Amino acid sequence: MAAAIDQSQYRNVWVYIEVGEEGPRNVGLELLGEGRKLADAMGQKLAGVIIGEKVAGLAKEVFAAGADQVYLVEAPELAHYSTDGYTAVFTDLIKQYQPSVILIGATNDGRDLGPRIACRIGTGLTADCTGLGIDEPTGLVAWTRPAFGGNLMATILCREHRPQMGTVRPSVFKRPVPDYSRTGEIIHVPSTVQAEDIRTKLINIVKVCTASCNLEEAEIIVSGGRGMCKPENFVLIEELANVLGGAVGASRAAVDAGWKPPMHQVGQTGKTVGPKIYFACGISGAIQHLAGMSSSDVIIAINKDADAPIFKRADYGIVGDVLEVLPLLSEEFRKIKP
Ligand code: FAD
Repeated sequence: MAAAIDQSQYRNVWVYIEVGEEGPRNVGLELLGEGRKLADAMGQKLAGVIIGEKVAGLAKEVFAAGADQVYLVEAPELAHYSTDGYTAVFTDLIKQYQPSVILIGATNDGRDLGPRIACRIGTGLTADCTGLGIDEPTGLVAWTRPAFGGNLMATILCREHRPQMGTVRPSVFKRPVPDYSRTGEIIHVPSTVQAEDIRTKLINIVKVCTASCNLEEAEIIVSGGRGMCKPENFVLIEELANVLGGAVGASRAAVDAGWKPPMHQVGQTGKTVGPKIYFACGISGAIQHLAGMSSSDVIIAINKDADAPIFKRADYGIVGDVLEVLPLLSEEFRKIKP
């Protein structure tokens, strides 16, 4: 454990902006919305941290989502995420600028990066949060996350160490509406990382995940459960997703049965999603499934059991056999597709 530190030296809220092929990933922008609330409550600034190669152009998105500042580290060695490179850069940034709070998306990269930085700095990290707030008596960030298999929610404070750090599940929070009239300060920080410091070499990128499994970014998700009856029937889910330009989700029952790979699982032990429209097809609506999709804007359920719990959460319900209803929906949506 690190020695006692002067906490008054640590100021401002940082959000790690993970960069994908098409710009900042949604989760970073979602966290800027929450970070803004925390920063305002603490009377401090909100900053986005962008690491990569030729990524300066992304700063405007980060300001539009609420940041006052952007810490920008650019170098050819940082063109792609690497554990060694990004950990070293982020750790150096923290030592130099001493933020009070750091929010990181609980993505594959974020789950790799967050704990390593916390360990290097000697602070704590609350992983996989689903709620953020301010603990009134102490003014500390209150990090909320499921514990004991989701049977209770734990709220954790980081009293002794700084920065206060947490990873937060994608799609738990909504992206703020961008305000492109906002601007801010860009702080260019030179990278101290050399190519030889990075022990892994990126040789090739093989995409196993197509648009159909990009659940965290999808605006429409069509999910199937045990009610799809057999794996071949998932073609009906894929067809509807395809017509609507959406992604394919699955319940844990469907994943455990080997009908879809785990990367499609929605729920407490799968992905948390928040699309504009979520179709739950042959899914009963167990609490662990709802935990991953109930922040969807509109939920449409198809189930042959009119008493299935999913109908209590659904905005629209179709009582019927998925094997009959899904082809009809695909056919009708295909007609109105622009
Ligand atoms: P079922 O509960 O079996 O429901 C199938 C539904 O399909 C029924 O409502 C039935 O009426 C309907 N149906 C059947 N045939 C048809 C048809 N032809 N047409 C229309 N409807 C039909 N689950 C998750 O999904 N995600 C998680 O991340 C997750 N994590 C978990 C973590 C823990 C610690 C635990 C204990 C459980 C977790 N579960 C999770 C499992 C969860 O409790 C449920 O078992 C699971 O969600 C059930 O999946 P299902 O709805 O597909 O299957």
